[in-house]
Amino acid sequence: MPDSSEGPKNSELKNCIADEKSNCIVCELNGKLICVVNRQFANRFLVGNVTYRILALAIFVFSGLLIKHWWMLISYAIILPLTFLVIELRLLCSHCPFYEKEGKCLKCWALRGMPKLWKYRPGPATKTEKTVMLIFGTFIDVFPLVGSIWGIIHFALNATNNLFAGIGLIVITILFLIVAAYFSKILLGNACKKCANFSCSMNKVPKEIVKKFLEQNPKMKKAWINAGWKDE
Ligand code: SF4
Ligand code: SF4
Repeated sequence: MPDSSEGPKNSELKNCIADEKSNCIVCELNGKLICVVNRQFANRFLVGNVTYRILALAIFVFSGLLIKHWWMLISYAIILPLTFLVIELRLLCSHCPFYEKEGKCLKCWALRGMPKLWKYRPGPATKTEKTVMLIFGTFIDVFPLVGSIWGIIHFALNATNNLFAGIGLIVITILFLIVAAYFSKILLGNACKKCANFSCSMNKVPKEIVKKFLEQNPKMKKAWINAGWKDE
C-alpha cells in the first residue's frame, strides 16, 4: 500500500487497490471507499445476487406456465450469463481499479471470480459504454417484473387456468421484491456511495474523494484527464 503522504512514485505503478504493497493504514481515504474486500460483505452480496437471479428465473418459469410461451425465460437465461461473464466485464469492470489486481479472475467485492477476458482500462467508461451497460443492467434487473406483472394479469383474467402456477408466481414475486429491496439498500444506500468504479452510472462517490483517489494514482489520473475529466 502506498504511504499516502508520499503517494505512488511513478505513473507505471499499479493503482493502490491492485497494489498489494499499498499502505492503507495511513491513507486518508481508508473507510471512505470500498477498496479492500470485506469477505463477509462480499459473501452477503453474492448470496443476495444469486437469490435475485434464481427468483427471476422462477418468475419466468411460473409466468411461462400461465401464459404458455417461453421466450422471456429463454432470453433471460441467455442474456444473464452473457452480461455477467462478458458485457459487464468489458463495459464496466475493465475500468475498475479492482480489475488491475493480479490473476485471471476478478478479486473484488461484487463479481468475484468472473473471468478477466479484457485488458484493464484505467480511464473512465465512455458514454456509449455506460448507455449499453444501462440497457443490459435494466434488462437483467427489471425485466423479471414485466414477466411477473404479465403473468399475474393473465392469472387474474383466467383464474381457473392454472392455480398452482398463479399462486406460485405471486409468492415468488413477493420474495423477489423483498430481495430487490434488500439490494437497493446495500447498493444504492451504501455500496454505490463508496464504490471505486467512479465512472459507473450508479456511482455516488463525492467528487472530492474521486479527486483524492486519482491524485494518489497518477496512471489513472492521466487516463481520466485524457478522457476529458477536469481536475477542478
Ligand atoms: S484508497 Fe483504499 S486501497 Fe488505496 S491506499 Fe487508500 S485505503 Fe488503500
Ligand atoms: S467492484 Fe464492481 S465494477 Fe469493480 S470489478 Fe467488481 S463488479 Fe466490476
